[in-house]
Amino acid sequence: MERLQQKIIEEGKVLSNEVLKVDAFLNHQIDPVLMKEMGQEFARLFAEDGITKILTIESSGIAPSVMAGLEMGVPVVFARKRQSLTLTEGLLTADVYSFTKQQSNRIAVSNAFLNKEDRVLIIDDFLANGQAALGLLNIAEQAGVHVAGIGIVIEKSFQEGRKLLEEKNVRVESLARVQSLENGQVTFVEEARA
Ligand code: 5GP
Repeated sequence: MERLQQKIIEEGKVLSNEVLKVDAFLNHQIDPVLMKEMGQEFARLFAEDGITKILTIESSGIAPSVMAGLEMGVPVVFARKRQSLTLTEGLLTADVYSFTKQQSNRIAVSNAFLNKEDRVLIIDDFLANGQAALGLLNIAEQAGVHVAGIGIVIEKSFQEGRKLLEEKNVRVESLARVQSLENGQVTFVEEARA
């Protein structure tokens, strides 16, 4: 997505060779217009897949997911990272290892919101080493739903997330694919144009 790439160049901050900070429009302050366009793009990419539900993870996956859900006319379920007083029964859980935080976190979704008949689109803000997406995939498998694919806002293609997901035969669609963050510069994967 051209406009997303432009926004990353203009407002993203390269913190290291591995980490891109985009809290000016995605992770802290949110650009609703861009978010709406991203929702439309996810809806276009998965238009033929009969999606009935979007599954994401708090907190930064929620905004693009809600926009996609609005566009597709389907509900959005987000996995919680913290324990909730009211979310205690019928939990589907997965442990997600964070390389950045060097620790494992348990994520949870109530089984009330995922039904075997659901056709699910998983969405997240970043794809790095793939652990968050694999955790969501694990929860979807426990629920017995069909996963139509994974939609990512920013993929860091130099990390192994896409490879791990494709090994599981899941379709991955990323709105921006970062090839490198070296020397403080963001470069994107050249996409073949039809
Ligand atoms: P993964 O599980 O694919 O290794 O990492 C996914 C999660 O880590 C994302 O949901 C995101 O919150 C965080 N993350 C990974 N890399 C980056 C990055 O370069 N910048 C930001 N802002 N978050 C990242």
